[in-house]
Amino acid sequence: MASGPDEDGRERIVQASIPANDVEKIAGEQALEQRAMKLADQAKQADESFSKDLRPRRFQDYVGQRAVVDSISIAVMAAKKRGDVLDHALFHGPPGLGKTTISQIIARELDSQLIHTSGPALERPADVVGLLSNLKRGDVLFIDEIHRLSHAVEEYLYSAMEDFRVDFMTGAGAFAKSINLPLQPFTLIGSTTRAGMLSAPLRERFGLAYHLDFYSTEELAQVVTRSAGILEIDIDETGAHEIARRSRGTPRISNRLLRRVRDFAEVRNSGTVTDKVASDALEIEGVDKLGLDRLDRLYLLTLSKNYQGGPAGIQALAATINEDQQTLEDVVEPFLLKIGFIVRTPQGRRTTPDGFGHIGLPPRLDGPAGQGTLL
Ligand code: ADP
Repeated sequence: MASGPDEDGRERIVQASIPANDVEKIAGEQALEQRAMKLADQAKQADESFSKDLRPRRFQDYVGQRAVVDSISIAVMAAKKRGDVLDHALFHGPPGLGKTTISQIIARELDSQLIHTSGPALERPADVVGLLSNLKRGDVLFIDEIHRLSHAVEEYLYSAMEDFRVDFMTGAGAFAKSINLPLQPFTLIGSTTRAGMLSAPLRERFGLAYHLDFYSTEELAQVVTRSAGILEIDIDETGAHEIARRSRGTPRISNRLLRRVRDFAEVRNSGTVTDKVASDALEIEGVDKLGLDRLDRLYLLTLSKNYQGGPAGIQALAATINEDQQTLEDVVEPFLLKIGFIVRTPQGRRTTPDGFGHIGLPPRLDGPAGQGTLL
């Protein structure tokens, strides 16, 4: 089992566990794959430990998302008071908005162990059976990218989530045997950038479901100030706001930009990070005043110039930009939609007048009104 306790020793990051007893044989067949997953897991842990210090550890340190935090913290307190396990919870929203972070906080507030895995890592039913059979009462099983679970694996989760048991077959032909394995009550937390890709039966099994939205500049300035304190970066209020304004509403980006600004300030000997230092550093990084990076601008330019503002299909755009379609849909589009630079219509994506304006092009004059091309 690949595991790595954090400072308070309660978290384990597990890609796939090596199960005991009945399921041992099944998992044995997966030895090679598990080794590969273990390597991937180690890489992820290294990544995690790099950013771990910046992760808020308690609800009160988690900036923004007030409605979500209020609701989930009440559910956590109620479950603790009753001595019950927390209902299964689903978090959805664009990457970097704090889905993993809030899941870790939930496990910590419950005094539970968090077992961290992801949809693509649970490739075969044996992976999930092994993982589930090793859970202890009250454990929190966190599945990142839950929309990428295979259908076969997903089906095992249905009874596991609802009745805390799994049924599976061992052997073949005349030796085939059905085993009904009772599980310890646990909480499943799913995280996804694509709630729409979850099957209805899986979605319905989550008692709690939350959407995380982009953060305001004020909130991100708080994130920047907090992270700067931890990283011992000398920054004033104007510097924190400048980084926040250019963070595309996303705390992960705030932390990344803060590190780039720190590098710049150190090399230029700028001392305190002010708005001027931050904007100079981020211009070099290719991050513009609204936080759009090179890929965002390339997307906007392609849609507005090559496709005259659309409508254009996402596949055509991905092919023209030579970028993965999913990256465009998950990373680029949500923020451009949020700030009103593009709209999605049944015919495809279109640039709005604000979108044209941002890249210095005149709005198209022949688009149908109400679809965002012409106003
Ligand atoms: P997701 O799982 O949604 O992709 P993460 O939970 O990994 O996002 O968050 C990315 C980073 O952003 C974390 O390392 C954390 O430092 C920071 N972060 C996310 N949400 C918050 C928040 N609400 N307050 C402060 N920092 C946050």
